[in-house]
Amino acid sequence: MQDNIIIELLGIKDKNVKVWEISRNADHSMCVDLYTEKRKQKCPHCGYKTKRVHGYRNQEIQGPSLPYGKVNIVLRKRRYLCQACGKTFYERLLMVGYYQRVIRSVQNEALMYAAFGSFKTAARWANMTVTRLMRLFDRREIKTTRVLPRAIAIDEFKGDDAGGERFQTIIVDVENKEIIDILPDRKVDTIKRYLRSCDTGSVEMVVMDLSKWFKKAVCDELGDPLIIADRFHFMRQVYWALDEVRREVQGEVDKRTRLHMKRSKKL
Ligand SMILES: [Zn+2]
Repeated sequence: MQDNIIIELLGIKDKNVKVWEISRNADHSMCVDLYTEKRKQKCPHCGYKTKRVHGYRNQEIQGPSLPYGKVNIVLRKRRYLCQACGKTFYERLLMVGYYQRVIRSVQNEALMYAAFGSFKTAARWANMTVTRLMRLFDRREIKTTRVLPRAIAIDEFKGDDAGGERFQTIIVDVENKEIIDILPDRKVDTIKRYLRSCDTGSVEMVVMDLSKWFKKAVCDELGDPLIIADRFHFMRQVYWALDEVRREVQGEVDKRTRLHMKRSKKL
């Protein structure tokens, strides 16, 4: 079978993951050895880009249960060394979440089972322990309808270039100071779709910057909540307005005064 078909069958979405070897054990279970291609990584500590390899570790991942037996996956993970700050870190992979050892497609399978049966049955069907399945639910790895709190904040931030998007949107529970979700981009449609997928019945306040796009998304989906501009965004708007006035005045005065004003933005 072709390697890329196997990768697809295993539910692996990361294009950097390649098949090294496939072997079959005496008990009919399959073992798939995977590796990744070396490529430039961004240091999660300081942002410097590096290709320097620090070492390797084999990580065992539980694969799906196929009708003819279990699939065990061994991934050779690479640890990089950042030459700027000296720290080491594992490469980021889309196939496995950072701290969990269950491949994402198995999680989805488990979710489906759990929708029909008890945790115990679901765990048995998905071939994982009940504790592990419960933990996945606790960590909210498995999606349920999100109930948004009374006050939320929506803001964009420069993320990690996931999927080629420079900006991501973060949704925060203001009163409990907790991150609720991170959306893949900052498009109005994405935000609207997200809000629509949530239970927004109790949202009364939305803190955000003064972008009319965010405002449109929020008003379209939430009706008429109290919109609060946070201090930073409010001050930035004031600063821009002031700066505009400065430029205007600057254009009208004589050359010497103009140069003086230009050099003293904080005047
Ligand atoms: Zn670094």
